[in-house]
Amino acid sequence: MMESRVLPVDGWQKVVHFIDESAGLNALIAVHDATLGPGCGGCRIYPYADFEAGLTDVQNLSRGMTFKNALGGIPFGGGKAVIFADPRKDKSPALLKAFGAAVESLEGLYYTAEDSGVTEDDLKTIRSVTNYAAGLAHDGVGGNPSPFTARGVWRGMQAAARHHYGAASLQGLRVSILGVGAVGMELARLIHEEGGKLVVADVNDAAVKEARDRFGAEIVSKDDAVAADVDIFAPCALGGAINVDTIGRLQAKIVAGAANNQLASPDMGAALSERGILYCPDYVINAAGVISVGLEILGNWTNKEMTARIDKIGDTLTEIFKRAEAENRPTGAVADELALEVIARGREAA
Ligand code: NAD
Repeated sequence: MMESRVLPVDGWQKVVHFIDESAGLNALIAVHDATLGPGCGGCRIYPYADFEAGLTDVQNLSRGMTFKNALGGIPFGGGKAVIFADPRKDKSPALLKAFGAAVESLEGLYYTAEDSGVTEDDLKTIRSVTNYAAGLAHDGVGGNPSPFTARGVWRGMQAAARHHYGAASLQGLRVSILGVGAVGMELARLIHEEGGKLVVADVNDAAVKEARDRFGAEIVSKDDAVAADVDIFAPCALGGAINVDTIGRLQAKIVAGAANNQLASPDMGAALSERGILYCPDYVINAAGVISVGLEILGNWTNKEMTARIDKIGDTLTEIFKRAEAENRPTGAVADELALEVIARGREAA
């Protein structure tokens, strides 16, 4: 039997703790802000060390989605879910269905999708018990968001290269990609096809070899990927790639990648800006995945609409770069301000 408890969390619209012992479910769903629409964001399955670690993660992630969805131009607020479990050992249809029932019980306040530990197949199981789940292909469109995310990062990278180097394209520019997984590999393909030169690093040897064989990428260690003599650094693995240890070694003048939470601490944004490094705020450049999910929920998923939305990521970033330059402020601070402006306009219109 499912038990649920609303947790009073300051600044969050709703945070609910769900437990279904018979199904092995222990999960948190957090809706940070629903001004623009229902909270929308993926579900992460992770063996958190303790309850506090999961709560902190779901708070950070759901707050991030509020900003990401606002600047992504979709009518959704920020939401996210975490399940306390090891995705390699603990996943079962019963657990996924119990999570689906938890989502359903919120009656549309939160839409779920894939995140770390949740596959498209898992989502099908979740979807069998709730309508409030997206990120599934229908008639060959939509589905796995990674290729869209890669395309959005590529468009953002082009906008950054235009702004910083006056480059008409990525032709001849050198890009170091840290993490050639689902997003990083597709990004590598797009850069290679445009005539960019690649340096790659990954803990997965097969992945870097594939990038070398398909795109002529130079393979380096993960430390050397950050310090590589390149024009653009693309963090596409885990968060925290820009930190006190790495920032001094960066040679690239642009940071443009898919990873969430690329800055290990907020002061890294100012530190990059002081060094003359143009940072593409992570939640702006990597928004195409959730935009695709949003369009799927709205029943408005077409290639034409998706391409238009992805191209807009480049325009949004250009606006951020210009405002940051004019006001001599970090791009991340300007992005947050723009997102808050979108939410404030949404509140006035409501
Ligand atoms: P993925 O798991 O497919 O790829 C990540 C890659 O990074 C893997 O190849 C992995 O081996 C590698 N990696 C992990 N730790 C590493 C380390 N310490 N050093 C070097 N390589 C390491 O994930 P993905 O879907 O490609 O997502 C990449 C990043 O982008 C993640 O941070 C994710 O949260 C973010 N993101 C993804 C999407 C999406 O649509 N998939 C959307 C928004 C943000």
